[in-house]
Amino acid sequence: MDHSPGTDSCTELRARVRELTAEWRVGGRYVPRSDSWLRSFDLEFSKELAARGLIAMTYPKEFGGAGRTNVERLAVTEELLRAGAPVAAHWIGDRQIGPAVLRHGTRALQEEIVPRIASGEAVFCLGMSEPEAGSDLASVRTSAERVEGGWLVNGHKIWTTQAHHATHAYLLARTSREERKHDGLSEFILDMGAEGVQVTPIVDLAGEHHFNEVRFENVFVPAHRVIGEVGKGWKQVVEQLSFERGGAERSLSSYPVLVELIAEAARQRDDRELHALLGALVARLAVLRRLCFEVASAMDAGQAPVQQAAALKYLGNAFEHDVIEALRRTDLCQDPAFDSTFGQALLASPAFGLRGGAAEVLLSLIARQEARS
Ligand SMILES: Cc1cc2nc3c(=O)[nH]c(=O)nc-3n(C[C@H](O)[C@H](O)[C@H](O)COP(=O)(O)OP(=O)(O)OC[C@H]3O[C@@H](n4cnc5c(N)ncnc54)[C@H](O)[C@@H]3O)c2cc1C
Repeated sequence: MDHSPGTDSCTELRARVRELTAEWRVGGRYVPRSDSWLRSFDLEFSKELAARGLIAMTYPKEFGGAGRTNVERLAVTEELLRAGAPVAAHWIGDRQIGPAVLRHGTRALQEEIVPRIASGEAVFCLGMSEPEAGSDLASVRTSAERVEGGWLVNGHKIWTTQAHHATHAYLLARTSREERKHDGLSEFILDMGAEGVQVTPIVDLAGEHHFNEVRFENVFVPAHRVIGEVGKGWKQVVEQLSFERGGAERSLSSYPVLVELIAEAARQRDDRELHALLGALVARLAVLRRLCFEVASAMDAGQAPVQQAAALKYLGNAFEHDVIEALRRTDLCQDPAFDSTFGQALLASPAFGLRGGAAEVLLSLIARQEARS
């Protein structure tokens, strides 16, 4: 019996994703891996999902979406992550740029951008962090200066995931200097092929290239590519962070390791300590899934559950780490056959509690909100 939260349509969607991922896996078209939502890029797979109505699921049908709920989308994203599927090409655009443009963009921007995300054609990277502005995002220095017909962008972004594959960038830039640093920020969409955009790879400690530095030198952005109100970008980006932080990817990055751990426990029936450890992890996963469901339900109610999403990310990242720690105490981590699954997860793990908001910063956000309520 399936105890997943959701509806009958979620059960049907889960079955469709399982069928598709099995087809691709057995056909050798992808190898499951940890952290696939950030590292495993395959445009063909994303387009196949798009053709089957499994991305842009919550977008209105008139923009190429499926007009479904965030709860239904959660059923699909959870199955894709569990399968370690190559979803990085559409993940950022589908998760947060489409919703941001649908909430705040002009009709013209929606018509231009949203259907291209829905078809898997537009690949987005996220230009928020800068060398001096990560946790303190409101300190961004990249500027956009008004010129005839649009804006001229100058600046430097860092840790920009998949910028080397992206067709478009979301950009947070300063459009005016105000007394409060949170004021005077605006959101833009720009073409990665535009003149003046330079992408330089950053190689992580596993030797993998998934993020980059991106420099902008006098890059022209047409006026209609502003998302929402000029100067009011801070309120919008905070809203966007609830989409960025509130999904199943914040607890399932190391899921392939958990699968191996469960298989090991089945082999080691007498290892009571291992079984107790695994029991505690599975119980925590059940709680996290419930939290994901509640965040998705709040989104379906039109809210931007910023605090709940931060709590989910904080707890989910701790869980992802603890799965890897649990494995360390078994002989499996010495097994060469298992080396790549474990090694990939272990080397990816320092990023879990940093990307999308450092753990300490999330805790302050939650505590401040509690103090206010
Ligand atoms: C794998 C990966 C992918 C990423 N992809 C993207 C991307 O696509 N686009 C993008 O824009 N960014 C991306 N990032 C950047 C990410 O969002 C930032 O790394 C994150 O916001 C932290 O910023 P920072 O690295 O500047 O660290 P800092 O802000 O320098 O923080 C470093 C440490 O200082 C501590 N600290 C900082 N401020 C506080 C505070 N107020 N209270 C308590 N402790 C604090 C925390 O312990 C924190 O871990 C990515 C990062 C990683 C690791």
